[in-house]
Amino acid sequence: MLVVGAGGIGCELLKNLVLAGFEDIVVIDLDTIDYSNLNRQFLFSKQHVGMSKSRVAKESVLKYNPDVKIKSYHGNVKDSTYGPSFIKQFDLVLNALDNLSARRHVNRVCLAVGVPLVESGTAGYLGQVQPIIKTVSECFECAPKPSPTTYPVCTIRSNPTKPIHCIIWAKMLFLRLFGKSDDSNAVTDLEETNQQENNDLEELDENEREGVELAKKFVEDDKMKLEQEKDRSYERWIFHKVFHTDVLYLCTLKTLWKGKQEPKPLLLDQLLASMEVATPQNSTGNVLIPDQQVWNVKQNAEVFLKVAKELKASVSEDNKVLEWEKDDDLHLDFVTAASNLRCSIFHLPLSSRFDVKSEAGNVIPAIATTNAIIAGLMVLEAYKILNKQKDRHRYHYLYKNPTRGKLILTARLLEPNPSCYICGSKFANLKINTATTTLNYFMKEVISKHLNIGAPSIFLGETCIYEAAGGEDEDDMGMDYQLPKTLQQLNIIDNTILKIEDFNSDYELQLSITHQTKFPSEEVLFELSGDKASKKHVEKLEDTPQNPEAEDDLQIISGSTKNAKRKREQSTENTSQKMNLVLIDE
Ligand SMILES: [Zn+2]
Repeated sequence: MLVVGAGGIGCELLKNLVLAGFEDIVVIDLDTIDYSNLNRQFLFSKQHVGMSKSRVAKESVLKYNPDVKIKSYHGNVKDSTYGPSFIKQFDLVLNALDNLSARRHVNRVCLAVGVPLVESGTAGYLGQVQPIIKTVSECFECAPKPSPTTYPVCTIRSNPTKPIHCIIWAKMLFLRLFGKSDDSNAVTDLEETNQQENNDLEELDENEREGVELAKKFVEDDKMKLEQEKDRSYERWIFHKVFHTDVLYLCTLKTLWKGKQEPKPLLLDQLLASMEVATPQNSTGNVLIPDQQVWNVKQNAEVFLKVAKELKASVSEDNKVLEWEKDDDLHLDFVTAASNLRCSIFHLPLSSRFDVKSEAGNVIPAIATTNAIIAGLMVLEAYKILNKQKDRHRYHYLYKNPTRGKLILTARLLEPNPSCYICGSKFANLKINTATTTLNYFMKEVISKHLNIGAPSIFLGETCIYEAAGGEDEDDMGMDYQLPKTLQQLNIIDNTILKIEDFNSDYELQLSITHQTKFPSEEVLFELSGDKASKKHVEKLEDTPQNPEAEDDLQIISGSTKNAKRKREQSTENTSQKMNLVLIDE
């Protein structure tokens, strides 16, 4: 059997399998061991930090039973090396993954080659196990999954209304200054000057125009100050640019602040000279541990200067490009200080280092006990699959509080959703503006992000419209020259049908195109029919009374626990729209 993932669930699972007498196991994981894993991934210890998870996990479980045949791969299960012909050799695949994209991929490969899959997930106290057997049960994608929360760029760039917006901005600033930055970064190049938008000046009345012109004068005057700061030091220049100059510019965009409090630019020298005293206490008067203390604005400024200087020195020294790591103290200090300074500018509450870490890292606390319970239940389902006990398969749901006296509830398998575009009809309808949408947008947003297809080939009739560049040859640009063209230019118009093939997972989809020009949101410019679960597709827990209490109506859980709570509240209002409980995070 194949175990995909040697993390929280994977460690428990491998130990269980070896002790339960399974003799032929392959494990794959792309990760290396980090300090933060050690509290729950008990096959690893301090001396293993930095080493391959799958290899160390293998060595560790061999100590329980040296006779087990176990092989480890350090690699990404989504690579073509581990495609259909690799998966075909197994009787069973056990997923112990921590991300949606890999789960969807393994689901498809297993369906393509008819290998049963046991899917798992935990989030804090919650967990679930889902056996997936081709044509017998629903697949991982029969019910649509929520996409992760995204925020509009303009909110991040100029109009934050929650601390999380400032935290995201601070991470982007970090990448802009010390890491790799791309077009999606809301923080623009700091060497660029702000463009004044004079176009709508005529539409303003006299008072407003006066205000704008006054503000413009401020911005002009500020230029000199910015030059001075640049001469003094790198970190002072960055501080002045992002917390003063850029904010001054935002203040001139009066329409943004109608009926709202304008942002307040920070002046470094004023701030450092202020008498603000740190208060390391919370409202109840208890002394907090350092990570839970909220720094005041002055402290944030001091931390920002110190850390920006150190980070700059470290990247200049070895010409390094940093990636943001929530477990790196310097990185976390930078994002905490920068986001708090921005919060103070926009009159938002400040956060502690601890809060920033969990928000910025999208962290759901991982609980060893939850992983252990889920891994145990996975082994039960593995037994049933290998013993061909089709009728005895169950979904298992682990709850935080006892429900009808139980922490673990089971449910019979659901039949495949006939309209599922993965295991059912393999047919989906796409509504999109064929006249304005480029192939580039289509490939990125629809094919890659939404349909999770890694190595696509697109056909219109017999004509190949696009094929991902293949092989090791980096100069091979494949058919990238097609990307700037609109769908219409490629003859993809209303009422045409595309064939999409994924080389890596052996998956094929018929995509029917409908030309549509208007969409409800400006963020997503298409609609995919397969996204809606069929109406009959409703979860039934065993022993569920006719009218289950609201408490039991768990719905799709995504991202954070806050989100999960919100979803639950919605469900009490409208129980008829119940969907499957789906946990997507480890
Ligand atoms: Zn399906």
